[in-house]
Amino acid sequence: MSESRTIRGRVLAPHATDRALTLHEDVVVRVDASGRITDVGAPGDDAPEVTRPGCVWMPGFVDTHIHFPQARVLGSASGELLPWLQKTVFPEESRFQDVEYAREVARDFCASMLAQGTTCASVFSSSHPGATDALFAEMDRRGLRGDVGLTLMDRGAPEALLRAPAEAMAACEELVERWHGADGDRLRFRVTPRFALSCTPEMLEAAGELAARHDLPIQTHISENPDEIEATAAAFPEARDYLDVYRQAGLLGSRSLFAHGVWLSETEWDGVKSADASISHCPDSNFFLGSGPMPLKEATSRGVKLGLGTDVGAGRSYSLRRCCSRAYDASKLTGSDTDAAELLWFATRGGAIAMDRADQIGLVESGFDADLIAIRPLDPDADLATLCEHLVFLEDRGGVEEVRVRGVVRWTQDALVD
Ligand SMILES: [Zn+2]
Repeated sequence: MSESRTIRGRVLAPHATDRALTLHEDVVVRVDASGRITDVGAPGDDAPEVTRPGCVWMPGFVDTHIHFPQARVLGSASGELLPWLQKTVFPEESRFQDVEYAREVARDFCASMLAQGTTCASVFSSSHPGATDALFAEMDRRGLRGDVGLTLMDRGAPEALLRAPAEAMAACEELVERWHGADGDRLRFRVTPRFALSCTPEMLEAAGELAARHDLPIQTHISENPDEIEATAAAFPEARDYLDVYRQAGLLGSRSLFAHGVWLSETEWDGVKSADASISHCPDSNFFLGSGPMPLKEATSRGVKLGLGTDVGAGRSYSLRRCCSRAYDASKLTGSDTDAAELLWFATRGGAIAMDRADQIGLVESGFDADLIAIRPLDPDADLATLCEHLVFLEDRGGVEEVRVRGVVRWTQDALVD
């Protein structure tokens, strides 16, 4: 039975820690019944036929920052971050009070990720427990891997989105009980204060305590836009800087994942590194909202853990390939040195590390889960550097054809024409 999960073909394999990839021309990836890779080696006499000839196989993409309740407002241009939240995002997120609506959007949302080869994601839900439970259920059904958080907000938004700390924590406890660690740690609950401006100090402290109590991962936004940073400094006069707001609340640690970080100071970058926290780089969103390009070199020069995030719906696409391409553009604007191979590493292995799943995914090696995707590149014989450039910069030439999680086919292009 396990033989059916075996893949033979050209495989693009990220390295464990150095930000590079190796291209295996023809290997057999054997997968056991639990979905774990047991062996990667040269094809012997008993090797199966090549799986999807002309495609390259690689680890599924990891989207380290995405918003479920913004799926229906993707591409809505209404200014920079703060006015965009008020005009576009908050009214739409209020609709997730309706669990039926949440279920319907969850189906589109999960299908859209799979169709772009995303197999793992760190997701902000709305502030509604019912909608959050519906998203977990759909991710479970589709076989997606990932973390979901109830978005915590107790100020700065319409009443329908606000939830007082005690009530929000009770809802989180129920979700933790139901979903955290589900299906062999495929799903996790992630503590998710939206950002400092939408939380009172009491809410941030409650979030920090919740994370400590259950040893939960954390995600939030940081330093995305100059107006936001100025407002945050005014709202938290005791804090030395934006990062210190989270530090004081117990939200800065090795399991913290901060989205954006466009305008972090040198001191803050040092603080992220010394806490061993992670950054989600969201270049497409940063361009769409005019937030600015994040200087990738600040992360790479310090060895800060970093993944890429689409940030749908401020990001305009579920594609991590497009995200890589935008990250390249941002690197050019900030004097940061990178290339397509390194960006693909961030979109796979880097994201796995940033999401604290380094022991599960991101490598095509024995002992890792077979979360693998097949993409048909423009030139099936291209060398490593050219192949990576085609995957990143020619994302409309050659799509994702098949997506597997733990060796099970979860999406194929073929299904569209059935
Ligand atoms: Zn975001």
